[in-house]
Amino acid sequence: MQAFAYARAAGVTEALAAARNADTAFLAGGTELLNWMRLGIAAPTRILDITRLAGFDAIETLPDGGLRFGALARLNDVALAPAVVERAPMLSQAILSAASPQIRNLATIGGNLLQKTRCGYFRAEEKLPCNKKWPGTGCAARDGLNDRHAIFGWSDTCVATQPSDPAVALAALDASVITARGAGGRRIPVTEFYRLPDADLAGDTVLEQGELITTIEIPGAAPRSTYIKVRERESYEFATASVAIALDLDAGRRIARARIALGSVALRPWRLVAAEEALAGLQPDSSAIAAAVETGFAEARPLAHNAYKITLGRNLVLRALRLASEMAP
Ligand code: SF4
Repeated sequence: MQAFAYARAAGVTEALAAARNADTAFLAGGTELLNWMRLGIAAPTRILDITRLAGFDAIETLPDGGLRFGALARLNDVALAPAVVERAPMLSQAILSAASPQIRNLATIGGNLLQKTRCGYFRAEEKLPCNKKWPGTGCAARDGLNDRHAIFGWSDTCVATQPSDPAVALAALDASVITARGAGGRRIPVTEFYRLPDADLAGDTVLEQGELITTIEIPGAAPRSTYIKVRERESYEFATASVAIALDLDAGRRIARARIALGSVALRPWRLVAAEEALAGLQPDSSAIAAAVETGFAEARPLAHNAYKITLGRNLVLRALRLASEMAP
C-alpha cells in the first residue's frame, strides 16, 4: 500500500478545499477505501477524515412522510431506526442484508453508495485485462467468467455490476443524493447517480473530484415495500441478484403505482420502467401480472454465462410484488 498523509477535516469548507486535489480521498467508515488501497484500486496520497463533521449522521423524518439521512449515518443506525422500518421497510431490509453486523456498525450510508464493482478481474491482486482498473487492456469478463455480471446497460468495454444493496432500495424509492462542492451543491436522483460503462470508465458515479455527499433524501413514505436478495450464502455475501419494490394500491386494491429496481444486473440499480407502467391498474393477483413484469426484461442482453439472471430477476419481481401487496399500508 502506498504511503499517505492523514488529516481530519474540521468543517465542510475545509474538506471541500482540500479535496480539490485529485490525490485526496475522503475517509468515512473506511470499510471500502482501505480495500481499494490494498488492491491498488485507489492510491491517494492524502486521506481526509470526515467522520467528525457535525450533523452528518442525523436521521430525520420529513413532513411528507419521507426521510432524510446525513451521509455519515451508520448503516445499522439507519436500518434499525423506527421511522425507517415504518416508512421504508425495503431500505431497512436492504441494509440488513448487506455485509456483516460489525461492518454495518462502521460503514456509512453515503460511503455504501460509493462501493466499486465486485468483478473478480477488477479486484484481482495480479494485473488482468480490465479496462476499468487498467485502461485500454480490454475486458476479461466480456468473454470470460461473466456469470455474476450485467444483463442490462453494459458495453463491450465493461460488463460489471454495482454491488450496493441500499442503492437498489433508494433507486426504487426515488431518493436523491445531495452534495456539497466548490461550485455549489446539487441534488442527484439515485437513478442518475451511477454512470453506465462507456469509453471512459474512470468514474463510477457522476460525482466530481472533491464533491461530497452530505445528505440522502427519500420523498414520501413507502410502507408497502420490500427487498429480496438472492446470494450464494445467507451469512455474508454480495447479491447474485436482488429486487426492491414499492407498491401503492388504490381503494379497489389495483396497483396505482409500482416502483421496481433490480440489483446486481447492471452498473447501476436498474429500474424496470416498462414493467412499472404495464402493472398500473392491475390487481396484484391478476393473471396479467406475469406478462406485465416480462416487459421489463425486453431490453435484457445476457452474456454467455448469465442468462439465468433473467429468470431469476423475473421470479424475484413476481415474489416481491406478492409480498408487497400483502403488506399493511
Ligand atoms: Fe474490468 Fe469491467 Fe471488464 Fe470487470 S467487467 S474486467 S471491471 S472492464
